[in-house]
Amino acid sequence: MTLQALWESIVAFYEPTLEIFSLWAFGLPLFVTVLAVMFIVAQKFETPLTLRSLKQAAFPTDQYDHASSRVDMWNGIILLALGFPLVGIMAINGLAIADNVGAYVSAEYGARAPLITSTWALVAVQFLVYFLSVDFVGYWVHRWCHTTPILWHLHKPHHTAETLTPWTLFRQHPIEFFGLNIIPAVVGGAFTGLVLYATGSQIQPGTIAAITTTAYIAFFVIDVFSHVHMPISYGWMNRIVLAPVMHNLHHSMEPHHWDKNNAVILTLWDWMFGTLYLPKKGETWRWGCNDEEYGDNNPHRTLRGFYFDPFKTLWRHVKEGESSNL
Ligand SMILES: [Zn+2]
Ligand SMILES: [Zn+2]
Repeated sequence: MTLQALWESIVAFYEPTLEIFSLWAFGLPLFVTVLAVMFIVAQKFETPLTLRSLKQAAFPTDQYDHASSRVDMWNGIILLALGFPLVGIMAINGLAIADNVGAYVSAEYGARAPLITSTWALVAVQFLVYFLSVDFVGYWVHRWCHTTPILWHLHKPHHTAETLTPWTLFRQHPIEFFGLNIIPAVVGGAFTGLVLYATGSQIQPGTIAAITTTAYIAFFVIDVFSHVHMPISYGWMNRIVLAPVMHNLHHSMEPHHWDKNNAVILTLWDWMFGTLYLPKKGETWRWGCNDEEYGDNNPHRTLRGFYFDPFKTLWRHVKEGESSNL
């Protein structure tokens, strides 16, 4: 394959996502407006509606003017600068893996006759299989981050947050952000490839567009929104899809809340595998890791501690076989 042909095939593969990027540019102002309206409604007009009260409701100083949220913001800016299109590209790469695995298995064992012929049904099946398998693996990777001591050293920085702002989503150690987050796309993509083989089909352009859109909506609306300081609940839907209050509780430092609500998008997995915790009426909690590593004793209070402390604790763990501080 010539370089020119390789380039053309890459462009052809990624082309549908360009439309999605421009869609996102228009979607952002809409998203911010919806957020603002929700904050006003949530405040129930308890204070006179001025720009200042709106700003205080949406961005309270106790959350935003805090060492913890400053670490979140600066790390977030660095991560986004390094890999803003990561989410979409990761979703697309998972589909590329699916396509390759499907083609490889077909070449090895012989292509199967197409099981589904209508395009919309193909798109629906491919979308559901890929979306559900990536989210399912995402749930388990997150759960293992809590239960496997070595992974916990890398995930712990997310849990030393003492405040919640949308930036807290990006409070992820770079190794976790760029390393662990790829696992669901790879495993989910490989599984989808097997389904492609079984159904005798190939990835449809409609699936690529649907998955990219969903990846951005899920990432920005569900996951960014799940890190706002307000415990917004979706009622009975809390068992199905991640509401802010559910992930809010995942950040609780109360021991009986630890390792609960591991969902990335669907809380359905927590419900199915026994890690769902629906907050009780009037239940409150503090955000953080534990009492010993709080405030001035928080090892991730500065960016330097945030980046280097996980390596130190991981090294100590490997060297001394020390049990992790879960
Ligand atoms: Zn976690
Ligand atoms: Zn979080």
